[in-house]
Amino acid sequence: MSIIPTPKTDLHTHTIASDHADGSWEEMAQAAFEKGLQAFAVTEHGPSIARCPHIGYFANLPKIAPKNLPVMMLYGVEDDLIDTDGRTALPDEVKAQLDIVLLGTHTFGWVRNVLLSDIKKGLYKAMENPHIDVISHPVNPWYPMDYVEIAKVALDTNTVLEFNLSKIDFQEKTWREFLGVAAEYKLPLIISSDSHSPDRIGFDNLPYEWLEGIEPSQIMNRDLPTVVEHFKIKRPEVVEYAEKLKANL
Ligand SMILES: [Zn+2]
Ligand SMILES: [Zn+2]
Repeated sequence: MSIIPTPKTDLHTHTIASDHADGSWEEMAQAAFEKGLQAFAVTEHGPSIARCPHIGYFANLPKIAPKNLPVMMLYGVEDDLIDTDGRTALPDEVKAQLDIVLLGTHTFGWVRNVLLSDIKKGLYKAMENPHIDVISHPVNPWYPMDYVEIAKVALDTNTVLEFNLSKIDFQEKTWREFLGVAAEYKLPLIISSDSHSPDRIGFDNLPYEWLEGIEPSQIMNRDLPTVVEHFKIKRPEVVEYAEKLKANL
């Protein structure tokens, strides 16, 4: 059995900027530091979700985010699908400015009133978009996916799928089914907390035994240099810090 090391970055978190979450950027960074992470990404819900940040928040993140945090903070979004053509709430030109773009389906988003076949159509189309890096929580009890089908699209489109630790307790069977497909198809994955508060950031509840058959090299958030390389992050301070970490490895 391969041993998956604990990832050193958490690429899916929310702060008070999404109104159902808790914790400031500084509090999240402090918690990430205490957990020993090299970096974390703030990925608020996209502007189509009620009481979540406006498009201007995402466009201005590099200007408004605090510097000198104890841990490198990546700028991201958990965007939302808005139609069957694969469009998402955040325009491509804004997505292009972010370090990492996740795309999810949520019961409080566009998908709540559409057929599963339409969700799949939109999602698979969206995965062709080069600005979309990751599909968050492909396991979702409300929208049951065909894991082999989405795995094939992910490989064809160079999209990463996520093992999301926020609600694993009552979805063990489906997550294990998904992870089995991920092992078989050697899918690139990220593992993330989807934490909505500082105390949940990181990997305290990672069930390592569920990852049997998955190679450590499949985990794209295993460390910051891998994240920078795989997601082609260009922001100079992130690239520079990743280089420094690499030199010390
Ligand atoms: Zn989500
Ligand atoms: Zn989320």
